[in-house]
Amino acid sequence: MIDSHGVSGSSGLDKKRILILAGTTEARQLAERLTGRSDLSLNLSLAGRTENPASLAAPTRTGGFGGVDGLVAYLRDEQIDLLIDATHPFAARMSKNAIEASTETGVPLLRLERPGWQPEPGDHWTSASSISDAVNALGSAPRRVFLAIGRQEANAFSAAPQHHYLVRSIDPVDPPLDVPNVEYLLARGPFSVEAEETLLRQHRINVIVSKNSGGSATQGKLFAARKLGIEVVMVERAQNVAPHRAYTVDDALPLINHLLASVTKRGV
Ligand code: NAP
Repeated sequence: MIDSHGVSGSSGLDKKRILILAGTTEARQLAERLTGRSDLSLNLSLAGRTENPASLAAPTRTGGFGGVDGLVAYLRDEQIDLLIDATHPFAARMSKNAIEASTETGVPLLRLERPGWQPEPGDHWTSASSISDAVNALGSAPRRVFLAIGRQEANAFSAAPQHHYLVRSIDPVDPPLDVPNVEYLLARGPFSVEAEETLLRQHRINVIVSKNSGGSATQGKLFAARKLGIEVVMVERAQNVAPHRAYTVDDALPLINHLLASVTKRGV
């Protein structure tokens, strides 16, 4: 039987099994869109970095798989039909593992990755290819830096202790930066442009360090920076080379149906 999604089978054992590598708004939204489908069995996976992650609409496992070999074993043990890598654009290791595990098992892989931000007239962006490149881009003269890259790599800025830092993250930076002037702000987006402008003014920020994460939840700081004429050191993402790619949840849905239909035809 072919259902309205173009996917055969909708009862019992012939449900197609999907694993979504999560940790992003898009993963959560995709799970919400897929969870009601009777032809699918959906599982999500989180790395377990965030202490209180947002709740997800499907069963969720937490913690690393144990590298490529661990992911390969999981895909086989759980008889996964489709792997969806909806991790953050900067979760490069997980994405690389997903490509390798897909190649090894033959389980098709769809990469869901939101587009990056592009500079617009009035922006003062300095492009950095890595976090250490961003540290160097701040220069030797002391500046007031808004560090908006999350907590995992914030410590790299201990290498430039001459600056004053305002560090924003969801969970505390541990260990803290080894610099004399640093303030921490715990907050979870989305952040409005107005709130970001107020924050930048209050802390007399003159440079922002950001990852080019894309999406709207944390874009407010870029609009505020443009308005206030503040430089942004933008860390660019590594290119993801997965063969099937979608940039939005809406774009992902037909691709998911297409990939699952090919699984059905192969009889995998
Ligand atoms: P990473 O460096 O690419 O991954 C490091 C290791 O963490 C992976 O090798 C894997 O361990 C495990 N891992 C990562 N994502 C996983 C997932 N969804 N499920 C199970 N294990 C996972 O990733 P990261 O930058 O530490 O990011 C960790 C998580 O936070 C990701 O899920 C990502 O979506 C989310 N996140 C990251 C950022 C960021 O800026 N990097 C921002 C927001 C959210 P094994 O090798 O043992 O399988």
